[in-house]
Amino acid sequence: METLTQLHKRAIKEKWAMPHFNFSSLEQLEGIIDALRETKSPALVGTSEGERDAMGLKQVVALVESFRKEGIVVFLNADHSHSVDAAKKAVEAGYDSIHIDLSKKSFKENVEGTREVVKYSKKINSKVEVEGELGYLVTDSSKIYKEKIKIPEESYTKVDEAVEFVKETGVDRFAPAIGNLHGIAANKPVVHFKLVQELRKSLPDDLTLVLHGGSGINDEDIKRLVSMGVNNIHFSTELRVAYTEALREELKEKPEETAPYKYLDDPRKATVEIVKQKIALFGSAGRV
Ligand SMILES: [Zn+2]
Repeated sequence: METLTQLHKRAIKEKWAMPHFNFSSLEQLEGIIDALRETKSPALVGTSEGERDAMGLKQVVALVESFRKEGIVVFLNADHSHSVDAAKKAVEAGYDSIHIDLSKKSFKENVEGTREVVKYSKKINSKVEVEGELGYLVTDSSKIYKEKIKIPEESYTKVDEAVEFVKETGVDRFAPAIGNLHGIAANKPVVHFKLVQELRKSLPDDLTLVLHGGSGINDEDIKRLVSMGVNNIHFSTELRVAYTEALREELKEKPEETAPYKYLDDPRKATVEIVKQKIALFGSAGRV
C-alpha cells in the first residue's frame, strides 16, 4: 500500500484532493468506509480532540487498522490537536497523521510547538505525517450559524509567514486561513483565490496544501481549489448534519424501535451518500 505521503504527492501531480472526513461513531466510520470501498478512493479519517476522547484513542486506531487490513486505503488523523501533549498522545496511540493546531498562539509559539511535534512524531514512526496551521478559523465545526460570519482581515494567512513556518517546522502539510470557516454560516464563505495561488507558488511544490471547513463552500469553488493544487480537503459539519437528520427522521418514523443497529442504519446510509458526493468533487475516485 502507498504511504500517505506518496498518495499526497501523487494527488498534487494528478490534480485531485485527498478527502478528510471526521467521525465520532462506528456507524459514521462505516458509512465513510462503504463509500471508499465503492468509489475506490483513498481518504484520511479524522477525530478532533473531543471526538477521540469520546471514542477512545486506542479504540479508534484499532478500528481504522481493521478496515485497512481489509484493503481499504484509509489513514487516521488526529485533527486539530490544540496542544503538543494531545498530539504526542495520539502519535503514541498509533495515529498515522497528526494535525497540530497552535494557530491561536503567537507565531513563535506556533513554530516551536509544531516543530517539536514533527520531531517527536517522526522519531516514533517515520511514516507519520504532520500538519501545521497558520492563520486562524473564527468558528466551530459543531455549529450551524444563523447569522452571517465576517472573517477578520488579520486572521488570513500571510504568505511570508507561511514560507518561514513551513521551513522552520518541517511539516508535511500546511493548513492556511483563506476565507474558509468551520461549521456552516448564513453567508457562503468568500474564498481568497489569489492568496491560495500565491501560497501554492511560494511554498514547496510537494507540500500538501490543506483546506479546512469544506462544509458550506460551494462545489464550484471546491473544484477550482483542487485544480489550483489544494490537495487535501476537510469535511465534517455536512457529514454530521446528514447523519443527525437521518437519525431524527428514523426515530420519529419508528418510535417503537429500540435496537441501535436498526435505527442507526439509515444514518449510516446518509453518510455513504454525502461522502460519495464529496469524493466526486475531489476527483479522488478510482485512485487506489
Ligand atoms: Zn478543521
